Parts: sequence; C-alpha cells; structure tokens
Amino acid sequence: MSTLEIRDLHVSVETEAGPKEILRGVNLTVRSGETHAIMGPNGSGKSTLAYSIAGHPKYQITRGSVTLDGEDVLSLSVDERARAGLFLAMQYPVEVAGVSVANFLRTAKTAVDGKAPNLRSWVKDVNGALEKLGMGTDFAQRNVNEGFSGGEKKRHEIAQLELLDPKFAILDETDSGLDIDALKVVSDGVNRFHGKGDKGVLLITHYTRILRYITPDHVHVFVDGRVAEEGGPELAEKLEAEGYASYQKAGSSS
Ligand code: ADP
Ligand code: MG
Ligand code: MG
Repeated sequence: MSTLEIRDLHVSVETEAGPKEILRGVNLTVRSGETHAIMGPNGSGKSTLAYSIAGHPKYQITRGSVTLDGEDVLSLSVDERARAGLFLAMQYPVEVAGVSVANFLRTAKTAVDGKAPNLRSWVKDVNGALEKLGMGTDFAQRNVNEGFSGGEKKRHEIAQLELLDPKFAILDETDSGLDIDALKVVSDGVNRFHGKGDKGVLLITHYTRILRYITPDHVHVFVDGRVAEEGGPELAEKLEAEGYASYQKAGSSS
C-alpha cells in the first residue's frame, strides 16, 4: 500500500515577462489501487502538474510538497523518482534520435530496476507487451517516436508502463488523438496495469470519452491551476453534459 500525496503545490515557469504562476495550490492524494481522473480545459495546468511530479527542470516549485509514502519526491532527481516508482506518460512524447524502441526500453528498465533484466525473459516480455498493444515485434527495431503515428506514440507509452511496472502512473492525455480502436487498446493496457491490484493511476484528460473504458474512483475538475471540484465517476458525466464553462466563469472572477 503506497500513497502519493500532493499538498498545496504552487508551481511557476520562467517567462520573458518574469515568473508566471501556473499551479496555485494543488491538493491531491492517490493511494495504490485507486484511479483518479484529472479533467480540465486546455491551459489549466494539467501537464504542468504531471511534469512537476516527474521532475521537469523547467517547472519551479515555489510552495507545497509532493511525497511518496512520506518521502520528499521534490528533492529527488528525475531518475530517483522513476526508481521510487513514479512513471509519467507524456502528452507529447519526444523523439529519441537513433535509439531503437528495444534499446530504449531495456535502458529504461535497467535504470529503474538498478540492474539489467534477464535477457531471455526480457525479450519475451517486450514482445508480449507489444503484442497485447496490437504491435508487431518489428516495432521494437524502430527509433523511438521517429515517424510514429499518434496511436503508435501512445501505445509505446503504454508498453513502457507495462514493462517498467511503476507504483504510480501519471498518464497525460494518453487518449488524445486516438481513434476508437487505439483508444480501446490503450485503455485495455491501463486497465491491465490497474488490475495488478496495488497500482495508482492519475489519468489526465481533456475529454470524457476515455472514461467509458477506464472507470475512475475519483474525478477532479482542474481549472486555473487548482482542483475546483472533486467527486466520483458521476462528475465525469456532468462534465460530459455541461463542459467546463461554469467552472471557468467562477475561476475568472477570483
Ligand atoms: P494543460 O495541460 O492543462 O493544457 P499546461 O500545463 O500545458 O496546461 O499549461 C498551463 C498554462 O501554463 C498555459 O497557460 C501555458 O501556456 C502555460 N505554460 C506552460 N508551460 C509554460 C512555459 N514553459 N512557459 C510559459 N508558459 C507556460
Ligand atoms: Mg493542453
Ligand atoms: Mg496538457
């Protein structure tokens, strides 16, 4: 049983006009076994939250804390956060020039585990993960994200999730840009991960449609750099019907 706890998190980025505060006091607790959906309009700071937890150097924590089982996450390097069991699937996965999927996955697994995986079982695991995501094994020979379609990029993120086996997965708009078949494949992958039983999932999304395939225990409406409302799965249905307009009006007057 693990707990990822975000308390009063304030985050700024440096802009030409000086520091700009993007997160304005985020509170969120995710326990293993739970799936939390963070839903919010574009520009509300969802990706900033994901990057801040993962340790992106561009985001400056000005106040608050992130802890994993009481341990201060914010004082850890990006690598240490991964070894502690945090995984981030990025909204816009980046190309890694000249590095094959097979090499990338093995390097990442070695870094996270602190030792190289057993070669024979590892190759089997990789091929199995790719197969479950509807990819041929030749996919492993392609360079990471080079010329990948939107769906291939997201499937590759889910392959990492399956193979690296973190405690907590932060999935940043893993559903955006997917057609319905890819959405099902990706959702199945997230559900397999969650089905291991002791995993926490923070599912960041702009649209409600992925929540037809992945049922969250908790839904958080994220507006203007903080959680504006919390509820159960029924909150997603309300958002589906009403959108974010009521929250944004409330946010702009504050
Ligand atoms: P979301 O993921 O919810 O769409 P983001 O976290 O990407 O939101 O962005 C939140 C706000 O912070 C936006 O207004 C965005 O323009 C701004 N922002 C994010 N990163 C930077 C940056 N590096 N420099 C300046 N502004 C940024
Ligand atoms: Mg966005
Ligand atoms: Mg985003």
